[in-house]
Amino acid sequence: MDRGWGFLIGLLGAVWLLSSGHREQQPPETAAQRCFCQVSGYLDDCTCDVETIDRFNNYRLFPRLQKLLESDYFRYYKVNLKRPCPFWNDISQCGRRDCAVKPCQSDEVPDGIKSASYKYSEEANNLIEECEQAERLGAVDESLSEETQKAVLQWTKHDDSSDNFCEADDIQSPDAEYVDLLLNPERYTGYKGPDAWKIWNVIYEENCFKPQAIKRPLNPLASGQGKISENTFYSWLEGLCVEKRAFYRLISGLHASINVHLSARYLLQETWLEKKWGHNITEFQQRFDGILTEGEGPRRLKNLYFLYLIELRALSKVLPFFERPDFQLFTGNKIQDEENKMLLLEILHEIKSFPLHFDENSFFAGDKKEAHKLKEDFRLHFRNISRIMDCVGCFKCRLWGKLQTQGLGTALKILFSEKLIANMPESGPSYEFHLTRQEIVSLFNAFGRISTSVKELENFRNLLQSIH
Ligand code: FAD
Repeated sequence: MDRGWGFLIGLLGAVWLLSSGHREQQPPETAAQRCFCQVSGYLDDCTCDVETIDRFNNYRLFPRLQKLLESDYFRYYKVNLKRPCPFWNDISQCGRRDCAVKPCQSDEVPDGIKSASYKYSEEANNLIEECEQAERLGAVDESLSEETQKAVLQWTKHDDSSDNFCEADDIQSPDAEYVDLLLNPERYTGYKGPDAWKIWNVIYEENCFKPQAIKRPLNPLASGQGKISENTFYSWLEGLCVEKRAFYRLISGLHASINVHLSARYLLQETWLEKKWGHNITEFQQRFDGILTEGEGPRRLKNLYFLYLIELRALSKVLPFFERPDFQLFTGNKIQDEENKMLLLEILHEIKSFPLHFDENSFFAGDKKEAHKLKEDFRLHFRNISRIMDCVGCFKCRLWGKLQTQGLGTALKILFSEKLIANMPESGPSYEFHLTRQEIVSLFNAFGRISTSVKELENFRNLLQSIH
């Protein structure tokens, strides 16, 4: 349409609206708006907006990431689901069928993965095997070159290093088993009520820097305390330094993502022949509708985007580690391993090209001593959360909870190792920075979960629009 006509029609429309008093009447919000209208525009503490993330994720990243995660390297995750809960001992395993995890038979997992459970290349394997042998002998083998000895010592210390944000799962334990993540998808399990609340409650109350006197809005375990003023909570949060605020938002983002998944893969129907899984709109609304959740739902969804940006940033930073020629996604199938490495690098380059990255340089940027203390606090709180995962009373939820906290912990480790990664030699042993296979698998799978959540939000938005 000609611009002059468009302007005139617009002007006439505006005059009509003003003269007929229509400006007073707002159409009621639709179901989609009630979940999503506050989840748009700029995200707090970031220079990025939700719409840019949606476009980037849903059309450019998500399909390629799914393909990568279906490969053998990424689908098998070794986990110890039998570790006792270190905090309390009255865990009732929920006993639901949908909570069961089916571990792999030993012949299902490619030999290359089994023989190198925490190793990532032939060179690395050799190095670590030499190291293990040296440890058994009680000394570092003198025949190893000085360079190798140094790397060996660094890597053996790796799991206890002060850069690790997660309690390392004991994957060498006889209780640890490989799980095929594609056969044990994250979805609705029926784990809910006081047992599930207790886990979330401990995480928020004891590990998110929150004083007891400040109550979380809508906390189901805080009944009998009268209505909790959300203003008190949010003014406390706003008063925190950016790092502590980020910590709360990461956990809340993870919580939101888990709840998006269970709403998107809900058990809709069960017959003796089959189960039907799909989107449960009511479940989604109960958790994220602005009115039903007194404004909390949209905030939770924004935290999910915040988490997305943090993990995206970590992936963009770690590119030099994966670009090194000696890095392989080692499963023993040379052709597939090479193809997968190409796909992985393609994804990481795409991520690097994202224009509006979260800038974590503002993190821990204050006084050096204070920054060190804060980083240490941050790390210890996060390690505690990874231990709480052993208290989750549903194995399927425990599996995905462990994987996602390990993935987020790996992302944080990357973000705080920026200089080490930048100074890494282009080839040969790297002394300062290293990722185990477990960390790599959890990092990409955890990001895959958040990426899927963002994609699912588009599906829910469309479904909610279609019912109005
Ligand atoms: P919950 O989600 O249990 O939340 C408890 C309270 O926390 C809410 O009442 C609210 O006050 C607050 N809250 C809720 N969301 C947020 C948020 N995003 N940010 C801040 N505060 C919030 N269930 C499955 O079906 N499948 C799974 O795979 C699964 N995995 C889980 C993994 C873990 C580690 C845990 C602890 C639970 C898991 N659950 C899973 C259970 C699920 O997360 C819920 O706890 C359950 O569905 C009950 O939901 P709810 O509505 O009662 O509130």
